[in-house]
This record gives sequence, structure tokens and C-alpha cells, in this order.
Amino acid sequence: MSEKLKSAVPLGDRTTIRIGGPARYFCEAESVDALVDALHNAQSEGLPFVILGGGSNIIFEDSGFDGLVLAIANRGISILEESPGQILVEVQAGEEWDRFVKYAVDRGWSGIECLSGIPGRVGATPIQNVGAYGQEVSETIDSVLVYDLEEERLRELKNQQCEFAYRTSLFKKQATGRFIVTAVRFRLAPGGRCNLRYGELSRELGADSTDDLARVRATVLKTRRSKGMVIDPDDPMSVSCGSFFLNPVVSKQEWVALLERAGLAADAVPHFDTADGIKIPAAWLIEKAGFKRGQRSGAVGLSEKHALAIVNYDRASSHELREFARTIIERVQGRFGITLAPEPVFVGPAP
Ligand SMILES: Cc1cc2nc3c(=O)[nH]c(=O)nc-3n(C[C@H](O)[C@H](O)[C@H](O)COP(=O)(O)OP(=O)(O)OC[C@H]3O[C@@H](n4cnc5c(N)ncnc54)[C@H](O)[C@@H]3O)c2cc1C
Repeated sequence: MSEKLKSAVPLGDRTTIRIGGPARYFCEAESVDALVDALHNAQSEGLPFVILGGGSNIIFEDSGFDGLVLAIANRGISILEESPGQILVEVQAGEEWDRFVKYAVDRGWSGIECLSGIPGRVGATPIQNVGAYGQEVSETIDSVLVYDLEEERLRELKNQQCEFAYRTSLFKKQATGRFIVTAVRFRLAPGGRCNLRYGELSRELGADSTDDLARVRATVLKTRRSKGMVIDPDDPMSVSCGSFFLNPVVSKQEWVALLERAGLAADAVPHFDTADGIKIPAAWLIEKAGFKRGQRSGAVGLSEKHALAIVNYDRASSHELREFARTIIERVQGRFGITLAPEPVFVGPAP
């Protein structure tokens, strides 16, 4: 294997929640060639592998990973096409996501400004179709460039092929990890406006739309900081994976059953109609199931700033984290009949 290969690398140092034992092998792939080489070597030696971006949505076991952890580190932003009101930009998978957002905002390219401050790398953004404050990355992705492990070749998947939906995509659904994202192409709008679809944001900015993207970015960052949703070494609440659970989306029947079970009227439960069903804020369900912000169980607990984030308060183990998450799932299930699904990817048993 290449000289970039290291062994016994502590994975807790590579994840925002700071949990995880050593990777038997660890390789930082700074180019697509290096990535493909490392993959082929791992496959020929029968080593299991895991792809790592910025480590902000992944949970490793304390026992570590007995295989190769392949960190995606190819970088670069290039303009492919430019026409009035439209620009096609290719960003390599290892770029920091927020560096790219700032780059776009500084140039007045609209489309991703509400996604300011989300940690991680560009290559991971299509995996769970990252979203915040009324924007999702799928709205601006033109195509995703991947290495297809099954066909052993580089491919371009157009937006429609990626099966984007709320916090999921073809890539997240592929249990076998068939596709490795090498770059993402975004179609942005130079000089475009930002449609503010999130109440808190439009109230703060005093409008429903604006062309002041820098102000949108600053407001989003301020709001995120107040919730511990920006990685900050001085904020212990950001030692997390962000939102730990997905907001459940239920059918009409499940919604009626939930209200009956909880003995609540429809207007007593916050909810949003979506194309896929009725979305209920998981944070509300957690708090109503009896959990309080800042509530701890050993070294883990809910964030003091947000009921949806689980924080590693003091060198927590993967076991403690899983048990705490399981307690939340069980209590919400008991009170509302809804099973919360974790958002991060578990390399090992899930709660
Ligand atoms: C404080 C905080 C706030 C957050 N806020 C939000 C938010 O507002 N909205 C939101 O959607 N998410 C949010 N997240 C979650 C997370 O930041 C995103 O999911 C992010 O895109 C993960 O990027 P990453 O590079 O850190 O991925 P990682 O955690 O390294 O990996 C996540 C998954 O993607 C896979 N993966 C990573 N890169 C590739 C690649 N190139 N090819 C194939 N598979 C890959 C990994 O194998 C793993 O399964 C937040 C997290 C934190 C810690």
C-alpha cells in the first residue's frame, strides 16, 4: 500500500463527537487516483473499508475499525460553465463544505447560503441530502461524480438518478456502499435572490427574500451558534453529530393514531405537511416524552441548547451513547407510538 498509509489511527480524533477507537489502517486520499489505488489494494487484501469525510455524521465503536478507513481529501473548486444567471461549478469531494458556501456567497452565487455552517466535506453532502433553514443540497446539485465499485469505473450520476429525498439519497440507501463520491457539480445563480422559506430566518431578516447573501449567511451562522450547531472548540455543546434523530414523517393514519395515543388535539402537536406525509419535529417528541435539555446519562446527554443533539460531555463510550439513544427511542415509542431513526451512520451496531 502507499506511503500515505498509517496504522492504529484513533478515530475519535477524526469525528466531531470524539468517539471511536483505532483504525487498523488509515489513508488520506488526496486525489481520485490515490483513492482508487487504495480501494483496489484493500479489496485485493480482503480488507473491509469505510469512507470518511469530516467525521461529523459517523459513529465508530470504541474497539475501532479492523480494516481501512479511507479519508477523502481531494480538493479544488472550478467553474465549468457560465451564462447569465447560471453557473456550473465542480467541487472536489474533500473540500470543506462551509469553505465552498463562503466562496459562493462571497461571489454572490445564490442557492446554498442557508446551508452555511454545516460541518463536513462536500463529498458527503449528497449522501444524506444535507439541509437546513429551508434549503436542501439536492436543489442545486446538477450531478454527482462517483467511483462505482461494482462497475469499477468513474461515473457521473445526474440529479434525477440520485433519488434525493428528506435526509436520504441513493448513496445512503446503498447498504453495500457501492458509490464513492469524488466530486459534486452545483448549478448556482450569480446575482440570484435567496427565498427565505424558514420562519425564524425571514423574521430575523425582515423579508421573504433577499439578494444580500452575506447577511443570510451571517444570520444562519448566528442562529446555528445559539443552538450549538456550529463546530466550535469553545462550545462543548458542539461535541456531537448535530441532530441525532430524523424528524419522523408519518401517514395520515399514523398521525391520527399518534393523537389518540397521546390524548392530544392536532393543534397541540407541531407538524408540517410535506409531499411524503406529515413531518413532526423529533425534538418536540423527545421533550414531550420527558427528556430535558442538558439531561445526562453518564458521560453523554442531550445538548443544553437543543433537544435533538446528543453531546459527548466527557470521554463517552460508544456503548453509553448507544444506550442513551436507545432509551430515547423507547420512551418516544412508548408515549407516541413513533420509532425515531438515528441520523448518523453507525459503523457497528445502531441503537
Ligand atoms: C454541529 C453539527 C451540525 C450539523 N448540522 C447539520 C444540518 O444542519 N443539516 C444536515 O443535513 N446535517 C447536519 N450535520 C450532519 C453532518 O454535518 C452532515 O451530514 C455532513 O454532510 C457530513 O459530512 P462529513 O464529511 O463529516 O461526513 P462523515 O461523517 O465523514 O460521513 C458521513 C457518511 O457519509 C459517507 N461518506 C462521506 N464522504 C463520502 C464520499 N465522498 N463518498 C461516499 N460516502 C461518503 C461516510 O462513509 C458516512 O457513511 C451536522 C453535524 C454537526 C456535528
